[in-house]
Amino acid sequence: MYRAGKARGDVSDEIPLAHRINTIGRVGSRAFKTLGLFSLFLSILFVFLFSNYLSSERKFTQFVRSEDKESIDGRLLGHLPYSEANKEDLRDVYPGLKMHKDVIKPLFKMQMAAAKDGVEMVFLSGFRSIELQNEIFYKNKSIRNQIAIERAKVSAPPGYSEHSTGYAIDIGDKYMRKTDFEIEFAQTPTFIWLERNAAKYHFILSFPKGNSQGVSYEPWHWRYEGSVDALRQFDVANKKRLKNSLK
Ligand SMILES: [Zn+2]
Repeated sequence: MYRAGKARGDVSDEIPLAHRINTIGRVGSRAFKTLGLFSLFLSILFVFLFSNYLSSERKFTQFVRSEDKESIDGRLLGHLPYSEANKEDLRDVYPGLKMHKDVIKPLFKMQMAAAKDGVEMVFLSGFRSIELQNEIFYKNKSIRNQIAIERAKVSAPPGYSEHSTGYAIDIGDKYMRKTDFEIEFAQTPTFIWLERNAAKYHFILSFPKGNSQGVSYEPWHWRYEGSVDALRQFDVANKKRLKNSLK
């Protein structure tokens, strides 16, 4: 019986009575151990909570700092600064419409591919000098009786337009000219085709709906990113877009 109990690992029967009485001391040491473990647990919890608090503090400071960065990234009313393309890098697309020389080939290639699919795109505006942008921004603004903040939602201030790089182009639909520079352009076959195919020719929509720059949706305005130089021009804009897409 005794052995059987031992074999089953039933230890309680083995403890002599004297020892059982003496268990008060054991219970005491067990309580002490539990208390020790509990305080260890408490200190771990404290360290965990405190480090969490520290990291949230850090995140908050980082957030404030990044907000600072946004205000010092050179934007003016949401638009990023762009320098004017060198005259010798510009070529005619049509008479009166110039683009950076790197854009000409892919632009016509894209237009021809669209035509093959029965879509006729027209090019409305390409390179704009800072001087011309100045005229557009200030003249149009006064015609529309808008203040600069309102105007900047639909047009960049001079020195802040992607058009001055020679890489940006405004596109229309040959058969739906009433939609030129209008939100309705988004419903034209040209826009639908562009959405599906423009990336193949390295064109992207600069100001999609809800863009991180806070510029109004411009379905007609596309920019070329098919060269390292072009990519460099739009690096800040792309970083903002990337950051926004990760949110
Ligand atoms: Zn444009």
